[in-house]
Amino acid sequence: MADDALDTATAAEILAWASDGIPKLTFATGFGAEGCVVIDLIARAKLPIDLFTLDTGVLFPETYELWQRLQDKYGVEIRAVRPSHTIPEQALLHGPALWEREPDRCCELRKVIPLRHELSKFDGWITAIRRDQTPQRANARVVERDTKFGLIKVNPLVAWTHDDVWAHIYAHDVPYNALHDRGFPSIGCAPCTSAVAAGEDPRSGRWRGKAKNECGLHTVRSNQVGPDETKTDAA
Ligand code: SF4
Repeated sequence: MADDALDTATAAEILAWASDGIPKLTFATGFGAEGCVVIDLIARAKLPIDLFTLDTGVLFPETYELWQRLQDKYGVEIRAVRPSHTIPEQALLHGPALWEREPDRCCELRKVIPLRHELSKFDGWITAIRRDQTPQRANARVVERDTKFGLIKVNPLVAWTHDDVWAHIYAHDVPYNALHDRGFPSIGCAPCTSAVAAGEDPRSGRWRGKAKNECGLHTVRSNQVGPDETKTDAA
């Protein structure tokens, strides 16, 4: 695929290109609506792409239930990647409810460090981010060099809108989190996610009342790379 062709390729074409060109490729899902779409696309095309999620230990029961439903429907394994300490162990080391006092530290311990360790085993990772989700994601490209984690980052849904995602979910009967029907457009860990009122920013329920709207997984600007460079670097 030519360099500029990726910008106009479909998500399925981008995933097929990445699967073909990046030897060790994984998809890290947080089970958002977008992530469910990516799992659907990967599974229906039978692409040999590893799947995992960061199980922080404080996900909603509805998220754990969705995790199982996706595995059952598509016949795939979505591996659990966990922090080195359980929630009780973290409380002993750093005090209880670290997310209330130091959410950045909590995300670092429970998401960023485990993700960095896991991604060190791969040449590339797929994410489900969209440009219109946050200002930090507005310049995301289809294929980037992820300078934070040191591998290729592929964002097949980067140009999709909220409506594109839900049209795909309904058209293909993709499982999604039951909380989406109860006022939770963006779902993370239970202690840091609240429902959103009509008219509010969809991510305003994440870390409500705190100057934070990202886990720290996608906040560092990545550099765009072309497909040929991707293949070379990944080989
Ligand atoms: S989202 Fe909240 S509970 Fe989850 S890792 Fe970040 S601060 Fe901790």
